[in-house]
Amino acid sequence: MSRVKKIKTPRLKTPSDVRLGRSGVHGYGLFARDFIAQGARIIEYVGDRITKAEAERREAQRLARLAAGADGCVYIFVLNKRHDIDGNLSWNLARRINHSCHPNCEAQNIRGHIWIVALRDIAPDEELNFDYGFGYSEWQKHPCGCGAAQCAGYIINSAQRWRVRRAVAAGRT
Ligand SMILES: [Zn+2]
Repeated sequence: MSRVKKIKTPRLKTPSDVRLGRSGVHGYGLFARDFIAQGARIIEYVGDRITKAEAERREAQRLARLAAGADGCVYIFVLNKRHDIDGNLSWNLARRINHSCHPNCEAQNIRGHIWIVALRDIAPDEELNFDYGFGYSEWQKHPCGCGAAQCAGYIINSAQRWRVRRAVAAGRT
């Protein structure tokens, strides 16, 4: 489950234009159509607002799918203490955004809505990505091929990357 940082609301901007395209990293990805300025809200991560209990139920289903070799992608975001957002919906274009260990965007919780916000200026045709920030418990299940210098080879929140590097170096993959 991804954690979303709560930070100050950035200046309001019209959502920038994005397009779906073949990713060099993983399947399809989302790309900037035009220049996107640092701090811009690019797209809202929409989905079902669900309770923590329902999120746990869906997470168990996801793990079962993953164990069966099917799609085990994580689409559930922590929204607040009571609710999560399940973005596994066809109209949630933001679910196509790939992970990077050195991302150009981040997910921000802005007044109860999850927005993908530009961390820096983004050039036209650049692929958008953010750090999924997964926890340590299942890091082996999420290999990463983002190619960033920071990458530990697995999708893991940056604070625990050193633990994964140590585990990989010790051959515990
Ligand atoms: Zn990576």
